[in-house]
Amino acid sequence: MLRKALLSLALAASAVFVPLSGQASAEEASPPTAAAVTVYFDTTSAPTYRSAIRQGAANWNSRVTNVKLVENASAATLRYREGNDSRGSWASTDGHGRGTIFIDHTQARQYYVVRITAHETGHALGLPDHYSGPCSELMSGGGPGTSCTNAYPNSTEASRVNSLWANGFAGTYEWKVIYEQLPVAVG
Ligand SMILES: [Zn+2]
Repeated sequence: MLRKALLSLALAASAVFVPLSGQASAEEASPPTAAAVTVYFDTTSAPTYRSAIRQGAANWNSRVTNVKLVENASAATLRYREGNDSRGSWASTDGHGRGTIFIDHTQARQYYVVRITAHETGHALGLPDHYSGPCSELMSGGGPGTSCTNAYPNSTEASRVNSLWANGFAGTYEWKVIYEQLPVAVG
């Protein structure tokens, strides 16, 4: 109970210092900007994959300039969860920084987990699946098989995300639920 009280206190305290203007919820009021906007994410409900999620976000941050991923549970519009789902991992997202990403334990054992987290994050940044692509492409997901350990977007994918975020949070976005309907697992 004390822990919960402290957590609430910590969240309340941190919320005071979090600027709300840059969040997706303020998109209608925010004019387009050339500066990178920040998408805040929360790993609280995906403790097993916390470091993989952080690495996947860092990989995106190292390749794109118009949007930045920052972990901040109290300001988060993008939340990661983990568990077991017969449909595998999925992303329920507007493709523009909001939503939930679910990491399936079974797939996380089969595939390189940073590739999974970075791939799912790619959906939250607006990219669709392209399973027929090579391992060098992040959004080819499980297509190249379980041996693929590339967890970085290629230059085409990075350019696409930069153009999707050229106007920051401005624009209207369609909510989608994207399941990783992978080819039959190898091995
Ligand atoms: Zn996907």
